[in-house]
Amino acid sequence: MFFVPKICDTNRKRSRANTIPLSSSLFVLANLKLVGFALLLICLTLVGTVSASGDEITSAAHMTLADAENDKEPAPFYEVLAKALKKRKTRIDNICPPSDVVARRILEDYGAMFLANKKVTPPPLCIFMNEEQVTRFQEAAGFTSLLIGFDEVELQPEAMKQLVKAREEAQKEALDITPRDGAEAARRNYDDSVRLWNSRFSPALDYWLAQGRLNVEQVTRLRSLPLQQQVAEVLELEKSGIYFSKDLSKSILYSIAAPGTSQHIAMLAFDVNEFENPRVREIMAKHGWFQTVLSDLPHFTFLGLKEKDLPKNGLRSVEVNGQTFWVPNVIHAAVP
Ligand SMILES: [Zn+2]
Repeated sequence: MFFVPKICDTNRKRSRANTIPLSSSLFVLANLKLVGFALLLICLTLVGTVSASGDEITSAAHMTLADAENDKEPAPFYEVLAKALKKRKTRIDNICPPSDVVARRILEDYGAMFLANKKVTPPPLCIFMNEEQVTRFQEAAGFTSLLIGFDEVELQPEAMKQLVKAREEAQKEALDITPRDGAEAARRNYDDSVRLWNSRFSPALDYWLAQGRLNVEQVTRLRSLPLQQQVAEVLELEKSGIYFSKDLSKSILYSIAAPGTSQHIAMLAFDVNEFENPRVREIMAKHGWFQTVLSDLPHFTFLGLKEKDLPKNGLRSVEVNGQTFWVPNVIHAAVP
């Protein structure tokens, strides 16, 4: 009977209503002529199109349902986000205008933080436009600091509290959780995000100029554009393989955040030196910290949720280099 779930794989979600216990499946399966028919009925039963009458059929459905419970489809990100924002008395269109393609792209790449638990404050915007906006938000949300080694890192209080617990647990096992690249591992301001953007954007322009994929005129124009437009044009160029990440092989957004958009600005991110250790990742997850930005390996986001609850919170898991990333469950139709 173990092959039943696979055969019915595409239909196994909506079978809650059909549960009747099994008593004599062995007798049925002993008769090979009946096997095909039984499987057909089981599949039909699982999609709810047939009213099951045989005991053996519904028992199989029961088993499959248990599997489905453990392997649920993640909820749609935008639906969960709309509900989460409603509780915070705002709407998606307020934080991220639907007409702003860049803002929407950023929401879908970095948006997990908007689903964090109520003990923290996500940003009121997908993209902060200047330092003043960032300062106002950071002061309202509040943050605490901690000295780790020689580095003073700052996070929202609940995120810090859980990081401290995770560190204590790691240290009990002779492991550690330490900031990567000093204080920048945690809170950053607006200017930090602009500087880091330029650290990818500028060398990539030089490279693509040298490669002949961009000409001097294009490069000069790109450098002089206002930041928001610069981001939009970079994402457009990336559609044709002109990438701006550090290794020039993927989108710049998987390498560094667009100016004014980082989860570090939200004070809900921490870059971990020990990210390669699976036990460290496990401990971080236990305390509500998850990898949520695809391919940004050292980067953890504070959600304050249990890992088993992430799918119903609109996140789906993606494996990269043997590590699990929890990303917004959306279909990237027009984005590379
Ligand atoms: Zn980071």
